Amino acid sequence: MEQHYAKWQQQLVKCIRCGTCRSVCPVFQVSDNENTTARGKVKLLEAVSEGKLALTPELQARMSKCLLCKACAPGCPSGVRTDELFLSARRALAVKNGLPIAKKLAFTGLTYRKLFDLGLKMGAAFQSIVFKDAPGGRGKLARFPLPGAGLSQRRIIPPLASTPLRSRLPETSKVASPKARVAFYTGCMLNYVYPESGEAIVKILKAHDVEVVIPARQSCCGTPAFTSGDYQVGRYLAEENVKVLAAGNYDAIITGCASCGAALKHEYGAIIEDPAVKTAWEALAAKVKDITQFVAEVGLKQDLREVKAKITYHDPCHLVRGMGVTKEPRQLLKAIPGVEYAEMKDAAKCCGAGGTFSMAYYDIARTINDWKLDNAEKTGAGILATGCSACRMHITDGLGQRGSSMRVLHTAEIIAQAYGLD
Ligand code: SF4
Ligand code: SF4
Repeated sequence: MEQHYAKWQQQLVKCIRCGTCRSVCPVFQVSDNENTTARGKVKLLEAVSEGKLALTPELQARMSKCLLCKACAPGCPSGVRTDELFLSARRALAVKNGLPIAKKLAFTGLTYRKLFDLGLKMGAAFQSIVFKDAPGGRGKLARFPLPGAGLSQRRIIPPLASTPLRSRLPETSKVASPKARVAFYTGCMLNYVYPESGEAIVKILKAHDVEVVIPARQSCCGTPAFTSGDYQVGRYLAEENVKVLAAGNYDAIITGCASCGAALKHEYGAIIEDPAVKTAWEALAAKVKDITQFVAEVGLKQDLREVKAKITYHDPCHLVRGMGVTKEPRQLLKAIPGVEYAEMKDAAKCCGAGGTFSMAYYDIARTINDWKLDNAEKTGAGILATGCSACRMHITDGLGQRGSSMRVLHTAEIIAQAYGLD
């Protein structure tokens, strides 16, 4: 533990208590509680590192009241890496106090890839027992309270796909004269919940004469586990993914989900311990690209079809601050004929999903989401494009509860429409 504290102190001493992080923290803006700001958390961790405060379950609850949206880190004038600090603190707290049994079981389940896959396929077949259709066909609502699942009965969730993406497509999608061969890392959400977005990504890549491999042995990226502090599971999944992706010697690793991309590109660096796997990851990380980065680099195809729609764009935290992707989706959307692009206010502000945050603190997550929806609806757009499945799910829930007609699509689905591939 002491080695954690020594690392923390290198960051903690930099904090000059200026409070800049207060102005950008969505959780503070709802709760008006200093302890929820980065500055407040820094103070708490300082007390821990000085032996004045123990790693108690109460502290664990306070550290969990954070979206890990990374908004506080880039604006900090002293360069305190609050994002890395809070992840490390969650890890130390989980080691000391453990995690709720439902979470621990769910994360452990992720390490049994075939069993997890079977479980979700069975879940898709039997979901109508537990869930009913939400009004307006936007998704599903729980029929009864689900204790331990952290699922509000108000919450509209997307149905599990009857056939996951990786069962719809061959492991290798060939093209006549390949200019490149890439791996498409689908992650869980594109595979089990939004396979149509994954199909759009494969179609786009093939339209650019790229051979696409969807490695069947890929596992969950591990984000839900390691952001909750379960580094044992997070590390296992990270190392499995790196081994599988490194074995293929691909020209690029394409992602379509912001959280998977940020994990593969950056966050695995703090998780992987095996030196050989770490070396393999370093080579791999440079090849990880979001699909919008890929298309922006090679350039949109010519002879685009008109897409008659007014579109706004929401920056997922893990794309804008996690992968540094912000201009590419806008550039692509604006270049599609027929698209009227409308920038929303605070497009890069977190939508309130925050992974498991929105399960634990649904009311706070909804308030933060309402600001996003207000800004999105003010643009008059009919479509909100984004590149993160968790944001899509949370925003769709909010729109459904408002009875809004705005639809949420993955940016790749709009590009596929323009390519005439829908
Ligand atoms: S912005 Fe940085 S230096 Fe200022 S209070 Fe927050 S963490 Fe400390
Ligand atoms: S990561 Fe986001 S929610 Fe957490 S303290 Fe920083 S700004 Fe607030």
